[in-house]
Amino acid sequence: MQVLLVSTYELGRQPVHLASPAAALRRRGHQVRCLDLAVQAWDPEAVAWAEVVALSVPMHTAMRLGLAAARIVRRERPELPICLYGLYAAVSSERTLGPLVDRVIAGEYEPELLSWVDALAEGSRRDGAEATVAYGRSRFEVPVRELLPPLERYAHLAIGAEQRPVGGVEASHGCASRCRHCPLPTVYDGRFRAVGADIVLADIAHLVAAGACHITFADPDFLNGAQHSLRVVRAMHRRFPELTFDCTTKVELILRHRGIWPELAASGCLFVVSALECVDDAVLARLDKGHTVADAAEAVALLRAHGIELRPSFLPFTPWTTVEDMVELVDFVAANDLVGNVDPVHYTIRLLLPEGSLLLDHPDLAPHLGPYDPERLSYTWSAADPEVDRLQVELTALVEAGVAAGQAPGDLYLAVRAAVRRAAGLTPFPRGLLPAGSTEGRPRLTEPWFC
Ligand code: SF4
Repeated sequence: MQVLLVSTYELGRQPVHLASPAAALRRRGHQVRCLDLAVQAWDPEAVAWAEVVALSVPMHTAMRLGLAAARIVRRERPELPICLYGLYAAVSSERTLGPLVDRVIAGEYEPELLSWVDALAEGSRRDGAEATVAYGRSRFEVPVRELLPPLERYAHLAIGAEQRPVGGVEASHGCASRCRHCPLPTVYDGRFRAVGADIVLADIAHLVAAGACHITFADPDFLNGAQHSLRVVRAMHRRFPELTFDCTTKVELILRHRGIWPELAASGCLFVVSALECVDDAVLARLDKGHTVADAAEAVALLRAHGIELRPSFLPFTPWTTVEDMVELVDFVAANDLVGNVDPVHYTIRLLLPEGSLLLDHPDLAPHLGPYDPERLSYTWSAADPEVDRLQVELTALVEAGVAAGQAPGDLYLAVRAAVRRAAGLTPFPRGLLPAGSTEGRPRLTEPWFC
C-alpha cells in the first residue's frame, strides 16, 4: 500500500510518531511518505498518491489540527481510508468514526496500524468503522528519520547566545502515574512500555549524524523506568560524550530518585521539565499529583545543587483557583529563582477536560462543570470566582502580545505579576526585588510547549 503518514504538531520536535510507524510499515513492504504540517505546507500531490492516510494525534492541539486535516482529505478523496492514531485518537470517536475517519487507534498503536494497512492491502476493507485502545507491544523499530524534514526546521536548544539542533526520542511510552487531569491514564491506565535501549541508541545515533547536539527525552515521564533510563543515558554518554540532554519527570520521582542526579548531570543533563501545576496543596491533591508545594521547592533546589535547572510547566487555572493563588504562584516563581525557567505561556494554561478525564468523576468538579464542547474537545467549566476567568483571558492576551513583540521573559514575568497583583488589589512588585540572576538566559528549548 502507499501510505501517507501525517503529523500536525509534536511539540516542536521532528515527529517520532511518523518516523517509528514509517519504519514498521516499510518493513512490511508498504511504501511510505511523511508529511509534517508543523513545518511543511499541505501537499495535494501526496494526498493524490496515497492509498491510505494515517494521522498522528499525540496530544490535544495535534488532534484539533488532525481533525481539520482529515476533513480536507475526506473532501478531496472521499474513498480513501483514513486512520487517527496516538494518545488523543479516541477522543470524540463517536463523532469522528464513520463520517470522518475509518479507524481510530489509541495507545500502542503500531501493531494495530500495521494490521489495518495489511488488511487493506489484501483487499479486505472491513465494513464499519472501528476504534481500539491498545496496550500490548513488544516490538519496536528504529525510526526512519530520513523521511522527515531536517532538524534545522524544528525547535533548538537555546543556551546563552547559541542555538543548537535538537533530536527528540522516546525511551518509553505511557505513564505509571494516574494524575487526574492528564490524558495519559485514560488510555494507558497507569501502564508504561519501555522502548528497547538498542532502538533508542540507534535512533540517537541517526539524530547525531543528522546534526543533533542535544537530545530531548520526550517520554511522558523519563523516570517511570529509572533503571532503563539510566542504562540509556550511560550508553548514550559513552558513545557521544559531548551530547547534552533534557528529560521530563514528576516532582515525586525527582525526589524519590535523588541519588541519580549527580550521574545525570555528569552525563550532560541540562534541565528537567516538571509539571509543578500550581502552588495550592488542596488543588494538587485533587489532581492526585503526588507532590506538595514544599516538595516542588525541594525538587528545584535538589536539581540546582547538581547544576540542573528545573523548567516548570504550570496549570494555574482550574475551577478552584483564586486570585490569591495566582499571587502565590508568581511569588513562588520569584522566590525560587525560576523567572528565567518559565515559558510565559505557562502562566495562562487553563484546565482541559477531555472525554474520559479522571477528574470528571471528582465531586469537587460537579458545581463548575458545563457541557462538552466538541470543537474544543473538552468539557467546559467556569471558575468559582468569575474574576479568575477574567484574569486568565487578560494574561493570555498579555503573554501572546509580549511573545509576539519579542519581550524578554523577565519583563513579561513582571507584566504578568503586575496584572495578577492588580487583580488582587495589590501594588505592582518593584523590579529591584527580583532575585539576582533570575532573568538570565537559562537553557531551554525554543518551543514553549512541552506537555
Ligand atoms: S501528568 Fe505526568 S506523571 Fe502525571 S500521569 Fe500525566 S504524564 Fe504521568
